[in-house]
Amino acid sequence: MAWDFTTDPEYQEKLDWADAFVREEVEPLDLAFPHLQFTPLEGKRREAIDPLKEEVRRQGLWATHLGSELGGQGYGQLKLALLNEILGRSQWAPIVFGCQAPDTGNAEIIAHYGTPEQKARYLQPLLDGECFSSYSMTEPHAGADPTLFKTQAVKDGDEWVINGWKFFSSNARTAQFLIVMAVTNPDVSPYKGMSMFLVPTDTPGVNIVRDVGLYGEPVNEGSHALIHYEDVRVPDDALLGGEGQAFVIAQTRLGGGRIHHAMRTIGLAQKAIDMMCERALSRETAGSLLADKQFVQGYIADSYAQLVQFRLFVLYTAWEIDKYNDYKRVRKDIATAKVVMPSVLHDIAWRAMQVHGALGTTNEMPFFGMIHGAGVMGLADGPTEVHKVTVARQVLRDYAASDDIWPTQWLPKRQEAAKAKYAQYLELEVGNL
Ligand SMILES: Cc1cc2nc3c(=O)[nH]c(=O)nc-3n(C[C@H](O)[C@H](O)[C@H](O)COP(=O)(O)OP(=O)(O)OC[C@H]3O[C@@H](n4cnc5c(N)ncnc54)[C@H](O)[C@@H]3O)c2cc1C
Repeated sequence: MAWDFTTDPEYQEKLDWADAFVREEVEPLDLAFPHLQFTPLEGKRREAIDPLKEEVRRQGLWATHLGSELGGQGYGQLKLALLNEILGRSQWAPIVFGCQAPDTGNAEIIAHYGTPEQKARYLQPLLDGECFSSYSMTEPHAGADPTLFKTQAVKDGDEWVINGWKFFSSNARTAQFLIVMAVTNPDVSPYKGMSMFLVPTDTPGVNIVRDVGLYGEPVNEGSHALIHYEDVRVPDDALLGGEGQAFVIAQTRLGGGRIHHAMRTIGLAQKAIDMMCERALSRETAGSLLADKQFVQGYIADSYAQLVQFRLFVLYTAWEIDKYNDYKRVRKDIATAKVVMPSVLHDIAWRAMQVHGALGTTNEMPFFGMIHGAGVMGLADGPTEVHKVTVARQVLRDYAASDDIWPTQWLPKRQEAAKAKYAQYLELEVGNL
């Protein structure tokens, strides 16, 4: 019986290497080159980062998100989870290891649905870590409900002409290409009437109107673009997958993306616990260490309990993806991890901040960044509420309505049935009395 929680010794060695490498070489990049992960590498930055990528390649840990059949290392999601929880500690680490969102999901769908020409033009540079991509799906008036999207692509000879607005297309300003979801047949159900297009960012008519920043970022210096697609002409072969396949493709992409975020969140939440524990053991007040105060002990115990449950669940879900090789089959658990993720990160970061007192609230400690990140996790790749609906629907599939006006577990009915079943023994007992 295989029900094991151990890691292969050879892979554990790689993880130990990654752990030290990220701590010593990569985490400092977050401070030396903040917020520049998605800016193309040039000059001194390239000099600093290329050798680190090379080291990762030598260790066989480059771009491990894609299976061998899709041109990757083929390690699978469970191994990726163990690696990603290390990478989650640093903003630069996914770039240095060639597995950063949203490029991972974009690479995955091109690998699945792209033609050989599309793979050569778009996938290979992504896998080489030499270009960025953007996923352009959400619209200003509609995000959680893609059936409301209005951006249209109309066939004109052997070209498609795209018109419409997209919002929150992350990294569009530095991406070489966009994956755009557009209505291609308004006369059928949106599930069959939308298609995906690979659009080079420098195509005439791709107008980045505003680079929306997250809270705290300067206006217009953010990385989530509002884009006006105005008579954007692309050739027929810009279509990714078949016409009308956008929903199927989106599900392929988002399933992987969501669980990868969950894997990285484990690392970030663990970092908050590490800081909370160090502070609890370092700071004394009212006659004892913070670590000796029961409230603080409660914070530590609650945080450990929350993270350990989340981590085991994410690893289990990754194992399921490897086992079934089918995101759809694991949909319920991917959605559950997505639902739980923001609150795990939020709660742990909040407690860690509280234990640090005033210092915890400042820009000299990372806690508010983590709390903000938790908010983002509750929206990016779909709001928590929508995923809860998915979870509930999937859970309900395993149940049926009671065929009586009383629930099947209604005790009077069950007692009557139990008494009838064991009648002869009950009579004996009565006789003995
Ligand atoms: C940091 C970040 C990066 C992102 N990157 C990208 C990207 O690269 N490409 C891209 O296309 N999009 C991207 N998004 C957009 C993201 O996918 C959307 O924000 C998300 O789908 C929700 O859409 P919305 O923001 O329009 O919210 P809305 O659809 O307006 O929903 C708002 C709120 O309404 C409630 N709600 C909505 N639907 C339901 C429902 N069915 N049941 C109950 N309550 C509901 C929820 O509380 C929800 O949070 C990104 C978002 C963030 C925050």
